[in-house]
Amino acid sequence: MTSTDRAASRHHVVVVGSGFGGLFTTRALARDPVKVTMIASTGHHLFQPLLYQVATGILSEGEVAPATRDVLRRQRNARVLLGTVTHVDLERRVVTSVSPAGETTTSYDTLVVAAGAGQSYFGNDRFAKYAPGMKSIDDALELRGRIFGAFELAELEHDPDVRRRLLTFVVVGAGPTGVEMAGQIAELAHRALRGNFRSIDPRDSRIVLVDAAPAILGTFSEKLSRAAARQLEDLGVEIRLGAMVTDVDSDGLELRDADGATSRIEARTKVWAAGVAASPLGRQLAEAAGATTDRAGRVEVEPDCSLPGHPEVFVIGDMMALDRLPGVAQVAMQSGKHVAGEIRRRLRGETSPRPFRFHDKGSMATVSRFHAVADVRGLELAGLPAWVMWLAVHVFYLIGFKNRVTTLLHWTVSFIGRGRSERTATLQQVRAREALAALEAEEAAPEGAGTMRT
Ligand SMILES: Cc1cc2nc3c(=O)[nH]c(=O)nc-3n(C[C@H](O)[C@H](O)[C@H](O)COP(=O)(O)OP(=O)(O)OC[C@H]3O[C@@H](n4cnc5c(N)ncnc54)[C@H](O)[C@@H]3O)c2cc1C
Repeated sequence: MTSTDRAASRHHVVVVGSGFGGLFTTRALARDPVKVTMIASTGHHLFQPLLYQVATGILSEGEVAPATRDVLRRQRNARVLLGTVTHVDLERRVVTSVSPAGETTTSYDTLVVAAGAGQSYFGNDRFAKYAPGMKSIDDALELRGRIFGAFELAELEHDPDVRRRLLTFVVVGAGPTGVEMAGQIAELAHRALRGNFRSIDPRDSRIVLVDAAPAILGTFSEKLSRAAARQLEDLGVEIRLGAMVTDVDSDGLELRDADGATSRIEARTKVWAAGVAASPLGRQLAEAAGATTDRAGRVEVEPDCSLPGHPEVFVIGDMMALDRLPGVAQVAMQSGKHVAGEIRRRLRGETSPRPFRFHDKGSMATVSRFHAVADVRGLELAGLPAWVMWLAVHVFYLIGFKNRVTTLLHWTVSFIGRGRSERTATLQQVRAREALAALEAEEAAPEGAGTMRT
């Protein structure tokens, strides 16, 4: 048997997604007698927890999103295919994906689905046009264009009402992402942009953090939530709690308070950090397998992370509903390693499934430079110690030596100094979403697209 024959006959693991779940599964299989095909709709692995720093000019997109094929270049048993998986045929064990090159079908022995989650507008998808979410590089670059663009337009504006609207920034959702965004926009306005403008003073900006919940950082203790709120208020952020967003348009948003009172905030820039919904692949898989999904569209999996009735298919990370585990990076990484271990055991002939056990290493959220909150196995920290811990953890998990070094340099520039070295923003970044949607509608069925088999 030649080495090509051996490779062809190896157990084929197809991994959908190049996020934390997909990447950790693939890397954990590096020394196993399998071939791995990773199919993902982007060519990069995205470190989502630092997206807000791309949106606010601290980091470049390359630092948080290295090319997946470069990350996996030394792993000889892994290959990377660009494509959005649109269908899984559970009976034939075939995955269909689409890319600008056309449709590709890939057969598998084991399938690991880690397609993550997208932004949820709770049934109001039209809000997305005016209030981009924070889920992708596109989102972060669009927001960067909108945020820095708002200051540029305010500099040109003579009408005080319009100028005020341009200098008002509303972040919807007071979880870690919303808190981080609001804190960073406040730092931009009050610190980083000082001296950059002649007609406006960026410190006149109004930054509002809105949430329907009664407290910010609801998953943290009351003590840490209060510490974060104090820090945000010191930075000049207005916190509006118990307020539900009922409408969003290009010039502002409508709110309804818990007592039913309605109000409006005039704001050109809105950021949506309020809800997530699992990839639609989840519902599709669940329907095909007769399994169920939770309210966020996550698939209710077996204790070993497999799809009910289909032990050869695993659903992990943000797409998986198991033991009420949260949609966080640690769950995705650990579930990825777990299923790699299950695949290894099965190949050795061990048939009894092992349940996934999550080891909670704690949670943290940063508020501003030098200030974060952290809960590490009951040890609650706020302020500088939590921020140093946050810094160390994020550098540790960033992929790639070069990215770690340049990220540290950029953090030095932004946190010790007050510069933002990644402020490039173009109109194309801001308008591309609408242009692409129009193009996609026009090209619903691309001509001449062939079908490839892998
Ligand atoms: C802004 C933000 C901040 C966050 N901050 C933190 C934090 O501080 N700490 C923390 O623990 N967690 C944080 N999270 C959550 C954490 O990033 C996620 O839990 C984690 O990324 C989930 O990993 P995953 O592999 O399940 O999905 P993802 O990382 O989302 O990866 C999904 C992958 O699937 C691909 N994909 C999607 N659909 C398809 C398809 N149909 N076909 C092919 N490929 C597809 C995507 O391109 C991507 O590669 C944050 C998330 C966001 C958005």
